[in-house]
Amino acid sequence: MNDVILLKLGEIVLKGLNRRSFEQKLMNNIRYRLERIGKFKVTLMQSTVYVEALDEGADMDEAFEALGKVFGIATLSRAAACEKDAQSIAELCISYLRREMLSAESFKVEAKRADKSFPMTSIQLSQYVGSALSDAYPDCRVDVHSPELTVHVEVRDIAAYVHSAPTQGAGGMPLGSNGVGVTLLSGGIDSPVSTYMISKRGVRLIPIHFFSFPYTSQQAKDKVIELARELCDYCGRMTLEVVPFTHIQEEIRDKCPEEYFTLIMRRFMMRIADRIAVSNGAKAIVTGENLGQVASQTMEAMAVTRAVTQLPILQPLIGMDKEEIVRMARKIGTFETSILPYEDCCTVFTPRHPKTKPHIEEVEQLEAALDVEALVDEALSGIERIRIGYGE
Ligand code: ATP
Ligand code: MG
Repeated sequence: MNDVILLKLGEIVLKGLNRRSFEQKLMNNIRYRLERIGKFKVTLMQSTVYVEALDEGADMDEAFEALGKVFGIATLSRAAACEKDAQSIAELCISYLRREMLSAESFKVEAKRADKSFPMTSIQLSQYVGSALSDAYPDCRVDVHSPELTVHVEVRDIAAYVHSAPTQGAGGMPLGSNGVGVTLLSGGIDSPVSTYMISKRGVRLIPIHFFSFPYTSQQAKDKVIELARELCDYCGRMTLEVVPFTHIQEEIRDKCPEEYFTLIMRRFMMRIADRIAVSNGAKAIVTGENLGQVASQTMEAMAVTRAVTQLPILQPLIGMDKEEIVRMARKIGTFETSILPYEDCCTVFTPRHPKTKPHIEEVEQLEAALDVEALVDEALSGIERIRIGYGE
């Protein structure tokens, strides 16, 4: 019998009536994620997903790592399988967990039976396997209260499975289970983290990047493409929308007072994001804004910025400290790319004294100097779409 990866489902287990569609989404996401790694059999039974390699080329280590980034999975374990009889189970524990048993000082066995026709109770099976392990590894003592190692035995429909401590999964909800959104992706530290966080809630995201060539360079764009690729392990396949933003920024520079540059520019970002969202059936706009971090992130400035769209603006980083954001960026693997030194369009024509407490009427008056609709249409018609998938 083959080794398997056992995946325990997260929050979706709680979702009552929607549960089946959630599970279906998760299964599709898992299958899609494994497609590039090799041939695997993926089955769902009793709230556990079983992943088995179907040929030599299917690398279980690689699969384990990839599945650790799939949202909707609470824990993962590598497990060995055997026939459903007590002696085979005990023998398997002795051989499969040799390394763990030799290095631990204490252990206990936790047996579960989903198959109630198995002739022993869970407690009897735990005791049976426990005493076999004690005999084989006399230096590792039994401690049922706070053991260093917990040996898990699960007797299920087709086989019995043995594994040690499970690894924590990515958590959250399966991609696609909470609809679609757009996410504003700059080259900074924050927006890859906000993208990850909303994805984790099951939202499929369309990343949008505003690009101000030649004020921002080709390298700045490549950096954003790279960030989107890195996010893909979590967020799935995505199409990055690169919006030409130069003309808008030049118009603002030429026709609006300097202290309002950033604010008016951000309103254009929101208008364009709104249009892209609507044409893709997306129901929210995600940003990496963080209260008080810069002049455009005061409450007054955010009120003026969001006034151009009806869609909810999701700002998952709003109350976090920079340190916490950096920690997450490192964890998800985007930090090193984010700190590459290329400029962002927000740093082009930056006002020396940005307005931190703007009034909406004032801003609307200033925008009357611009042909807002035409500028938005022009930007939308120049969008470059870049498909980003695993390993592409
Ligand atoms: P980040 O580290 O994500 O760049 P930031 O602290 O630099 O954030 P701002 O530059 O004010 O903050 O941007 C706030 C948010 O606006 C970003 O988190 C991002 O969601 C969005 N944003 C900024 N610049 C761009 C851009 N060029 N393209 C797309 N979105 C952008
Ligand atoms: Mg930025």
